[in-house]
Amino acid sequence: MERIAVFPGSFDPITLGHYDIIERAAPLFDKIIVAIGQNAQKNYMFTLEQRRKWLEESLQRFPNIQVDVYEGLTVDYCKKVGASFILRGLRNPADFEFEKAIAHTNRAITEKHIETVFLLTSSGKSYISSSIVRDVIRNKGNYEILVPLEVRI
Ligand code: ADP
Repeated sequence: MERIAVFPGSFDPITLGHYDIIERAAPLFDKIIVAIGQNAQKNYMFTLEQRRKWLEESLQRFPNIQVDVYEGLTVDYCKKVGASFILRGLRNPADFEFEKAIAHTNRAITEKHIETVFLLTSSGKSYISSSIVRDVIRNKGNYEILVPLEVRI
C-alpha cells in the first residue's frame, strides 16, 4: 500500500521552516500532499492562489510532493485522499503541547488509523514562523532570508 502523508497548514506564506520539514520527510513517504487548510474564520495575509503558487513553485523539484487545498477536518481530508499519516513539525515546547492535543483529538474522532508523525525542526530554523515572517514583510524588512527563493513580494 502506498504510504501517503498529508502536511496540513496555512502556509501564509511557506517559510524555510516548512521547507526543511518537507525536504526531510520526502524520502520517508511515497507521497506527501502539502494541504492548505482553508478556514473561514482566519484572516490570511496572502490569497489562497498566491499561497498555493508559492508552494507549487518552491516544491517543484520533489516528484513525490503535491499541493492541494481542503476545507473541514484534516482527518476527513486524509480519508478522502487515502492518507494514513499526518506530518507536522515541532519547534518548541509550545508546539509540542498544541500538537499533542490535536494529534490525540484526531485519533479520538476517527475510526480509521491515522498516525501523526512529527519531525523536529533543524537547528537554525526553529525560530522561523509564518506570523513573524508576515510582520517582517509588513514592516519592509529582509524577509528573503526566511523563505524559499520563489517567495518574492
Ligand atoms: P498552522 O496554521 O497549522 O499552524 P503553519 O503553516 O503555521 O500552519 O504550520 C504548518 C506546520 O509547519 C506545523 O506543523 C508547524 O509546526 C510546522 N512549522 C512551521 N514552521 C516551522 C519551523 N520553523 N520548523 C518546523 N516546523 C515548522
